[in-house]
Amino acid sequence: MGTTFNVTVVEPPAALDREATAAGVATALGEVDRRMSTYRADSDVSRFNRAAPGAWFAVSAGTVEVVAKALEVHALSDGAFDITVGPLVDLWGFGAGSREAARVPGEQELAAAAARIGSKELAVRFDEPALIKYAPREIDLSAIAKGYGVDRAALWLQGQGITDYLVEVGGEVRTAGRNPERHAWRIGIEAPVLQRGAAIAAVAVSGKSVATSGDYRNYFEVDGKRYSHTIDPATARPITHGLASVTVIADDCMSADAFATAIDVLGPERGLALAERLGLPVYLVVRSGEGFEARHSSAFEPYVEDDSGGSR
Ligand code: FAD
Repeated sequence: MGTTFNVTVVEPPAALDREATAAGVATALGEVDRRMSTYRADSDVSRFNRAAPGAWFAVSAGTVEVVAKALEVHALSDGAFDITVGPLVDLWGFGAGSREAARVPGEQELAAAAARIGSKELAVRFDEPALIKYAPREIDLSAIAKGYGVDRAALWLQGQGITDYLVEVGGEVRTAGRNPERHAWRIGIEAPVLQRGAAIAAVAVSGKSVATSGDYRNYFEVDGKRYSHTIDPATARPITHGLASVTVIADDCMSADAFATAIDVLGPERGLALAERLGLPVYLVVRSGEGFEARHSSAFEPYVEDDSGGSR
């Protein structure tokens, strides 16, 4: 998926060695990549994107599961999360193979791409797994499939009888049980700076997933203006508000991943309002003058670490 993964297993069963664990996780992630990557011409997603509208298109059950969750988050976020946003992602230079094209597109190009956006034209079928588009649409699962990969890897570990683990793929995390010190897993929330690893806060979780979306790493600047890889489908443009990063805690990592992008699109006020409405634990880092200011939803309160390293 163009990124790295890390797995920590506490007291693995004697029959399972390090190589077998790594291979099992890699196979689970490889299957998600093979099915859902826009960087592969033969994935379910790329083949569906080339297909004509109006007919059911057979895909894996996993792809249906991810697209169904994407449509659910689309509806709950008032359209802010939209997996059909790919033509705009490409136009703004953030799509597969379009990295060097960082430039501000013209109005006509934007209008043409925006006319091909809208998840309302998509539907899923679970028995005989398939997708359908009722108008020309392309899907891009970049903001949700990494989280799903984490879930698949976690389920594989559980299937091996492993009860205490942490799985991380490209910054999205799922935990179960206890860490090697027999405490809840402690996850750092990265500070929105370019150096990796500097934490602004930490959460203590067990049996939960943590995902972060932000504009501090993947963006370009033209004439001093910042253009993020997160696109607001309502404007066809990168988000412009002061939200630097959004961290979401959920049971499954696919939901955490999707809601992090949805709230990133909505911005601090509407994003927090959605979090309150859904009872979602959400932590926001908002730009404030030269620095940053942190805000969180009420449901996030129990996860905030106190100074002694335990959670409140
Ligand atoms: P997130 O915030 O989680 O997602 C941002 C991305 O979501 C944007 O880049 C855009 O694509 C999309 N997006 C933008 N606006 C919206 C919106 N309003 N609603 C929904 N989605 C939106 N990268 C490579 O370089 N090489 C690879 O081979 C490769 N393979 C991949 C295979 C898979 C299956 C997946 C899921 C990703 C792959 N990637 C690859 C992409 C890479 O890892 C992405 O950078 C990553 O998925 C984006 O995650 P993020 O955490 O940076 O951002």
